[in-house]
Amino acid sequence: MIIQLKPDISESQTESLINEIGQIGYKITEVKTQEGTYLVGIGSSDFDIRRFGHHEGIQDIHIVSDAYKLVSRKWKVKPTSIDLGDGVFIKEGDMAIMAGPCSIETEDQIVKVIDHLKANDIKIMRGGVYKPRSSPYAFRGLGIDGLKLWHKLASEAGIKIITEVMQVSQIEEMLDYVDVFQVGARNTQNFNLLDELGKVDKPVMIKRGISGTIEELLQSAEYVFSGGNEKLILCERGIRTYEKASRNTLDLNAVPILKDKSHLPVVVDPSHGIGIRKFVHQMALAGVMAGADGIIYETHEVPEKAYSDGQQTLNFAQSAQLTDQIRKIFAMRKTFDLL
Ligand code: PEP
Ligand code: MN
Repeated sequence: MIIQLKPDISESQTESLINEIGQIGYKITEVKTQEGTYLVGIGSSDFDIRRFGHHEGIQDIHIVSDAYKLVSRKWKVKPTSIDLGDGVFIKEGDMAIMAGPCSIETEDQIVKVIDHLKANDIKIMRGGVYKPRSSPYAFRGLGIDGLKLWHKLASEAGIKIITEVMQVSQIEEMLDYVDVFQVGARNTQNFNLLDELGKVDKPVMIKRGISGTIEELLQSAEYVFSGGNEKLILCERGIRTYEKASRNTLDLNAVPILKDKSHLPVVVDPSHGIGIRKFVHQMALAGVMAGADGIIYETHEVPEKAYSDGQQTLNFAQSAQLTDQIRKIFAMRKTFDLL
């Protein structure tokens, strides 16, 4: 059960409501976000919502029996729009393109990527300064100093930043230098990290876990929302299956399913999804047709020299072509009325 409270509800009204719901055996969690206050009730007894409907401070009551609730479309039909400022949005009805290298490497590299994005009217740059690498000997990122330099150059160019936060202790130092925090596939179920991201007023994009189900992704988003942060984006980036011919199996089924189950925007990452440069185009465009609200992909001036993930990274000519195709396919999708 979700009870959305009116902004002017008094403390004593909230308390009496919580008591009354407690009497039917429901455990209540009070959730305060940037947008409002909710009571999330977990319990199994059957009741008639009219029993609570008379309370003064209630805006709305919804019965949501799924494991995830606040991120569900069952109570919030209106899609969530993520506003990054300066007219940049990640939202249903738009096609957000986020492009950049796997890793932030040097000042020269940052400048070249920014110039490429500007030339192609791409407003959001991806890149990692803290890199989760399978081998401890691989390049693990420039860290906070790299982020500060990148932020300076990107904000001067009017470009927004999405980058991965790997642990709780990094959140505070990164906060002023990111526009969207990315939770990587290896951290989707790092519940302490998700709890802490619930306390910040910055958008968070959660990638699907390497072996994660769609429901687990939604429950991870529920952690952040119930911690107080509604500014959430979901990302399908491929899952590990028995298939060895591609790095991961990009599960495009997840896109319409997530869009149906949740009001949050959904982004597709074809680079990690297939992991093979020459097939990134196809999977990106398939992601657009599947209903994505955004595509995030890797690009670098010389992919062969990239410090990480070069095998799935597009050069600038390929990136420019893909961006153009994404926009064309998106314009076509809009005429199909698929949802
Ligand atoms: C990345 O975006 O570079 C990355 C490491 O992604 P993922 O967490 O999906 O592997
Ligand atoms: Mn990568």
